[in-house]
Amino acid sequence: MITFSLEFKIHMKNDLFLELIITNKCNIRCPFCSVELGNKSMSSETLNNFHLFLRENREKIGNLIIDFFGGEPMIEFEKIKYFINQTNDLNIKYIIGTNAFYLDDEKIDFFHKNKVEIVVSVSSQTEDWIFKKIKKYSRQIFVNLVIIPREIEKYLDIFKRLYNIGIKNLFILPAFGILSWSESDLKDFEKFIFNIKEFRSAHKNENLRIETLRYYHQETLEKEFMIDWDGNVYFDKDPCLFLLENKVKLIKIKKPIGSIANKTLDINKLINKNGIKIINNDKKIIAEKLCFLRELIKINKILDLL
Ligand code: SF4
Repeated sequence: MITFSLEFKIHMKNDLFLELIITNKCNIRCPFCSVELGNKSMSSETLNNFHLFLRENREKIGNLIIDFFGGEPMIEFEKIKYFINQTNDLNIKYIIGTNAFYLDDEKIDFFHKNKVEIVVSVSSQTEDWIFKKIKKYSRQIFVNLVIIPREIEKYLDIFKRLYNIGIKNLFILPAFGILSWSESDLKDFEKFIFNIKEFRSAHKNENLRIETLRYYHQETLEKEFMIDWDGNVYFDKDPCLFLLENKVKLIKIKKPIGSIANKTLDINKLINKNGIKIINNDKKIIAEKLCFLRELIKINKILDLL
């Protein structure tokens, strides 16, 4: 599930964005999924270690965002609840990205009480009954509209459908990397963006908030770490994203920088990146990534039109 906060941007020196893979299980299979799905979840013990780590080091960190991620994180709702109950005095901004399948009143209430930002991903493959759920909770959720190439002509209707059921906060998120974008997809996408622009100016008094997730702000990603279900901590999970910004620079961390399962994570690695190696000579990876990098530059140019 791809998530990003609409409400919270990190910008200070010691701010941190931690993506917590609470499980790699998922109940569905999206064509654009970039996650290695499986059948594992974080253990309660590892989660508790993480809680203790944060408690011990919280004052060294500025703004702190924890993004519950998966797989489908709602599968482990009880663990998420336990973790939030333990840490909600630590001034943490929580986000959860979900496909909405398991969303219900109990979860919505809990997340609402604990100010957790709920981001639901919608695509051309989202089923009708999920739209009913989105309608029911439209005031409590944000939507990521994940654009699938080859299906772009369906998206204006999906966008209007979301608008009509009360979604006023929305991120447009082209699915790239796993799926390739042809010249005709790019044309369709440009048309879609123009239509959205027109729609937005025709509804300018309605507090419509449409944003795009331009891949990405390096500033943000440099502070992003991923904590896998087994407790291993990585300096960003996708090295190619750095290549996008710098064109030639590649940062790849081949090994975890520590583990919360065996308590080997050093807070200085998170806030100062002390001891993290930057590798910029992996030509094979650069070559593999270049093919979709070209697509991505074009996608970004279209996103800038909005
Ligand atoms: S819901 Fe998220 S994790 Fe599950 S298949 Fe779709 S993108 Fe992947």
